[in-house]
Amino acid sequence: MQETKSTCPYCGVGCGVVIEHDGTQITGVRGDPDHPANFGRLCTKGTNLHLTATPVVLQHQRLREPQRRSARGGTPEAISWAQANREIAERLLAIRAAHGPEAIAVYISGQLLTEDYHAFNKLARAVIGTPHIDSNSRLCMSSAVVGYKQSLGADAPPCSYEDIERADCILVSGANPAWAHPILFRRLEAARTARLESPAGHKLIVIDPRRTETAELADLHLQLAPGTDVALCLGLLNACITRGWTAPDFIAQHTDGFDAVQALAADWPPARAAEVCGVNEADIWQAAEWFATSPSSLSLYCQGLNQSSAGTAKNTALINLHLATGQIGKPGAGPFSLTGQPNAMGGRESGGMATLLPGHRDPAQAADWAEVAALWNVPDLPSKRGLTAVEMFEAAARGDIKAIWIACTNPAQSMPDQATVRAALARCDLVIVQESFAHTATARYADYLLPAATWGEKEGTVTNSERRISRVRAAVPAAGDSRADWLIVRDIAALIDAGLGRAPRLAAGCAEDLWLEHREATRGRDLDITGLSWAVLERDGPQQWPYVSGPTPRLYTDGRFATADGRARFVARPYVPTAEATGVDHPFALTTGRLRDQWHGMSRSGSVPGLFAHDGRPLVRLNPADAGTLADGDLVHVRSQRGELVLPVKLDANIAPARADIAMHWGDEFVGAQQGVNALTHGALCPDSRQPELKFSAVAIAPAHLP
Ligand code: SF4
Repeated sequence: MQETKSTCPYCGVGCGVVIEHDGTQITGVRGDPDHPANFGRLCTKGTNLHLTATPVVLQHQRLREPQRRSARGGTPEAISWAQANREIAERLLAIRAAHGPEAIAVYISGQLLTEDYHAFNKLARAVIGTPHIDSNSRLCMSSAVVGYKQSLGADAPPCSYEDIERADCILVSGANPAWAHPILFRRLEAARTARLESPAGHKLIVIDPRRTETAELADLHLQLAPGTDVALCLGLLNACITRGWTAPDFIAQHTDGFDAVQALAADWPPARAAEVCGVNEADIWQAAEWFATSPSSLSLYCQGLNQSSAGTAKNTALINLHLATGQIGKPGAGPFSLTGQPNAMGGRESGGMATLLPGHRDPAQAADWAEVAALWNVPDLPSKRGLTAVEMFEAAARGDIKAIWIACTNPAQSMPDQATVRAALARCDLVIVQESFAHTATARYADYLLPAATWGEKEGTVTNSERRISRVRAAVPAAGDSRADWLIVRDIAALIDAGLGRAPRLAAGCAEDLWLEHREATRGRDLDITGLSWAVLERDGPQQWPYVSGPTPRLYTDGRFATADGRARFVARPYVPTAEATGVDHPFALTTGRLRDQWHGMSRSGSVPGLFAHDGRPLVRLNPADAGTLADGDLVHVRSQRGELVLPVKLDANIAPARADIAMHWGDEFVGAQQGVNALTHGALCPDSRQPELKFSAVAIAPAHLP
């Protein structure tokens, strides 16, 4: 028996795992007692990780060799890596010559490692020359990125997980850590239990349209109407200002823009906010008092704020509350955005997204592009913002994108407005899908399928929600003929460079080479990790950035923020209703979210039968008051302006009246010939973050009469 330390590949908590194996097969997994994210604990998904690497899964569910489909809809045939690489490079070069580099797009994933991100970033921008690289992280955290930058000057969550233990008051907004970040929730539960026994006590406030398991634990649950978060934050701020619960010295010494936000909040007395949000006015006063007057208040937030056409405004409205009350820059306090995916943070750091550049540089700044070109030793780069995720597929549906290279993500299930996404994939001249699992909806559109190594088989790093960089390590050889993602990219990039008559621009010999290039891009930046190395990670374990001479658990402790003048900014943004409204034709507000034991499109977690025990089939949840003649299990049509599903109904008092909820995980392999829930959702975007409004779609629900 051998043991290899690595990191869980599921969520952004980033738990350390110990992989048990015999050098060829993974036989078990347990929590790493030394990892500061989880101290040995794992949730159900993590505990069952080894079952995603059984011989049966490796043989029947993994993509094991490169494949080519000669005609769309046909059966793919195995080809060699040499043939696949040569043909893909030739076809990309032909499309580039005929239509220009911007006819090619790259769509990647927050589940790739930082080294993979760096390789894809160079492939797109330096080798192909297209600005169009984006990530599925666009769907989960881009509003948090822009919110931090607008308010605090840098995309840097200022807190640590240990702040959960040190907070006197925790406000959870638009998040359900009990299911989506289970190990953090266990830390929260344990901290709360300990503190409730102390004289200081503990307050937990949950803001969520659903009564979740997290809300069940709360002292106060504000079950607001979906999409009204900005109105609620303005009401909370009004209450703080009215009762004198703000921190005038902190505001004066460390911030700008309070007057404008104060004027905005003046129009939102708690009574008005309560009416718009559908909550009790007294609860707003109470939440404001607890948040503002507790010695330390921490907010934890996630997709409920981010996945919105007002996602950035929701983020900045919450950060305004922290700034107004001085609840930032001290232990147990601060706005703490939780990332969904295991390496969404690494993608942000390496700049592998249309709106980002390496080392937190800004695509809007010519000087930043010049710095990246110098770092990469290339004469020029496509110095403009590329198309973001939804924009990319809309452009492909119009015929403007001719080739798309998709890695480690499943847009034919996870993107909103599936009709457009699938039309885009069908219209592209060339679809390359780089994947570990063979049976994704997107794989069916692929002209080439490139088998990627996955958890337990590859080397690199990830960064979790608290800015902690952890090593990912290979325990066993990659399944079949699959290869590390960065290696696949490097070899095809070399052929493209050769076809263009130049030296390779992506010449890394190993994953660590790529990490060292990435590290250099952080020098002198807010996320500087130039004091860190893989040797330090080996010796000292996972570390938080910035790391120049040591780790940084908490940011802004000196009251100086990452803006040019060191002062944080209040951002005055009005409440704007959701892009789509409910009405006579579509009277239900549909939200989507995670189940406790599943992950994304289930390509990995769906290979473990036991993970269906908690919640085993697709459902639409409705409040019993909306049932009419419906009973549990009855089939209903769920119809939006974009598509329709037929699902069994589940009556659930935790869903408020006139609202509906469907888990995000079920794709067409689970709901028959239908597409998943994203047949119903739409691509309305936050104007600042370009994140789509996955948390609100207007739908009609009617009994289904089967023939
Ligand atoms: Fe993995 Fe997240 Fe569970 Fe930790 S909490 S074991 S990182 S899925």
